[in-house]
Amino acid sequence: ALACGARVAGALDAMAARMAEMESELGHLDAIAGDGDHGRGMVRGTASAREAAITARDEGAGPGSVLTAAGESWAAKAGGTSGVLWGAGLVALGRRIGDDSAPGAESVVAGLRDGYQALTELGKAQPGDKTMLDSLLPFIDALDVAVKEGTHLWQAWDQAADRADEAALATAALRPKVGRARPLAERSVGTPDPGAISMAACLRAVGRALDD
Ligand code: ADP
Ligand code: MG
Ligand code: MG
Repeated sequence: ALACGARVAGALDAMAARMAEMESELGHLDAIAGDGDHGRGMVRGTASAREAAITARDEGAGPGSVLTAAGESWAAKAGGTSGVLWGAGLVALGRRIGDDSAPGAESVVAGLRDGYQALTELGKAQPGDKTMLDSLLPFIDALDVAVKEGTHLWQAWDQAADRADEAALATAALRPKVGRARPLAERSVGTPDPGAISMAACLRAVGRALDD
């Protein structure tokens, strides 16, 4: 089996590949009420996170340190609101996961809760504000429930990713209350939030990469 730091690097690689595929779609979504750079930002952020993760992995870093290095690089290189938030979330996740051993399902859920808290402390948004939080929170809640019911982590992750996809699409009905899309909020009604869509897609890519 691959060492845990290498598995985390593999997950970031899968996220970067998925964001490269979705770049133009995310840009179009962000152009409706925002500034159109979300695809570009997610590609830059995930690519730099991937590079930092691979470097850390090659130095023998454990999973927490790989995540921290990836988050710091993402926040520094992506540009934009989403990059800063994603970076802070990964750093908080990495801090909880740590380097000691392969993290268990409870530690993964706790790490995602820490990541979510970092996003809300920094971005001051709430669920329903039409942001990435609106797919992340339903994902974490669904994962938490499934894990507590005894579902294997990566099967639970796949089910939770279905919830995240549904929730991301359901943001179409919402009006943005924060961020660059707020001034043109009405224009965004009928279109899902780009950050919620990319969040759900990243979560799906991670689940596929780690389910083996
Ligand atoms: P920018 O808005 O700076 O151009 P991006 O286009 O990369 O950055 O990201 C926009 C996405 O960031 C939005 O679709 C939304 O999901 C998310 N976002 C914006 N502001 C916040 C916030 N305060 N809290 C959480 N997410 C936010
Ligand atoms: Mg933008
Ligand atoms: Mg921008």
